[in-house]
Amino acid sequence: MPRSLSAAHLMLPPMPRQTNARPSPWNPEEAHARIRVPSGLEEPYVTATLLDGKAVAKDIRDELGARVTNVLERLGRPPALAIVLVGDDPASEVYVRNKLKTAEDAGMGVNLDRLPSSTSLAALLGVVDRLNKDPKYDGILVQSPLPKSLGADAEQRVFDMIDPGKDVDGFSPISAGRVSQNREGFAPCTPAGVIELLVRTKTPIEGKHAVVIGRSDIVGKPMAALLLHKNATVTICHSRTRDLPAMARTADILVAAIGRPAFVTPDFVKPGAVVVDVGINSVTSAEEAKRIFARYPERLAVFGKKGSVLVGDVHPDVAEKAGALTPVPGGVGPLTIAMLMANTVRAAELRLR
Ligand code: NAP
Repeated sequence: MPRSLSAAHLMLPPMPRQTNARPSPWNPEEAHARIRVPSGLEEPYVTATLLDGKAVAKDIRDELGARVTNVLERLGRPPALAIVLVGDDPASEVYVRNKLKTAEDAGMGVNLDRLPSSTSLAALLGVVDRLNKDPKYDGILVQSPLPKSLGADAEQRVFDMIDPGKDVDGFSPISAGRVSQNREGFAPCTPAGVIELLVRTKTPIEGKHAVVIGRSDIVGKPMAALLLHKNATVTICHSRTRDLPAMARTADILVAAIGRPAFVTPDFVKPGAVVVDVGINSVTSAEEAKRIFARYPERLAVFGKKGSVLVGDVHPDVAEKAGALTPVPGGVGPLTIAMLMANTVRAAELRLR
C-alpha cells in the first residue's frame, strides 16, 4: 500500500503543502515532505508517494501461508523449489541467499545445487533434466547470469529445457507465449510483481498510457504484455528510440528497466506520473555516488560505510516531479522474490488438479 515516504529517505516530519507544489493524484495528503540536505544545496521537494514494495511483498507472502499448508496436507510435502547456481557471481550469491531464506521462512521446501563456473553446458542441462523429472520439486530456477564461458546462447538453451510446468521464473519460450496470449502460465516474477504492486496500491492502469523503457525478454517485453492485458495503451522504448525523454514524458505510467544508474531524470517525467523503477545498480565509484546523491546525505552515508550504494534506473530527483514512485531499494526487488514464491505455490497446486 502507498505510504508517504520511506524512513530511509526522510529525516524531518512532513511539512505543509507549498503554494508552488504540484498536486499528486495518488495521495496528496501524504505526498509532501522535506529531506535534510547539506547547507548550500537546494532541498529536494518531494511530491511522489512512495509505492512500498516491501509492504506489498509481505502481504503476498502472508497470503501464501494457507496455500502452503493446503499443499502440505494434500501432497504430503510443502511446495518445493530447486535452485541452481553456477559460478560465484557476488550479486547472484546475494539473490540466491535471499530466495533460499524467503522460501524457508514461508515453510516451503527449497534446495540449492551449486555448480562450479567450470561446469559444461551439457552438465548443466543434465542437472535441469534431472530436476524436470524429480517429483520432489514443483519449481526450477537457474540463476542468471550464467558464466560467459558457457557460451552466448547458454541461458536460452537452459530456459528452453526447463519443464514449462516447473518454469516458475517464467523464462521459457512456452511461458513467454502464454504471457503474450494472456493464458494461464507463469509470468516472469519482476513484471508480475510490478502489476501486483500497481493493482494492490489501487493505481489505475486501464486506459492509461504506459511507457516501458527496456525490451528484454525477462522484464521489458513481458512488462509491456502484462500492462496491455490490464488495458493500458503501451509503448516500448529501447536504445534506438528517438528522443526518449519526449517519448517518456507522454507516460502516465513509466517503467524503467534499463540497467543504467539514475538514467531517468525529471526531464523524462510528466508531472504526477507513476514511475516504476525496476533497475538495481550497485554504484561503486565515489564520484558517481556524489553526482547522483549530492542532495541525499543518507544515501551518501551508505556509500561512505559500505563503499557501494544501490541506485535504480531512475534518478532520485524524479521524486520531485512524479505522483508516485517505487524506491530502490524496497520497491520492485522484494516483489520479484514474493512472486517467485507465489509461482512455486501455484506450480504445486497445478500438480494437484
Ligand atoms: P537488459 O537485458 O540489459 O535490457 C536493458 C534494456 O534497456 C534493453 O532493451 C536496452 O535496449 C535498454 N537500454 C539500454 N540502454 C538504453 C538507453 N540508453 N536508452 C534506452 N534504452 C536503453 O536488462 P534487464 O535484464 O531487462 O534489466 C533491466 C534492469 O532491471 C537492470 O538494472 C536489472 O538489474 C534490473 N532488474 C531488476 C530486477 C528486480 O528484481 N528488481 C529483476 C530483473 C532485472 P536495447 O534492447 O536496444 O539494447
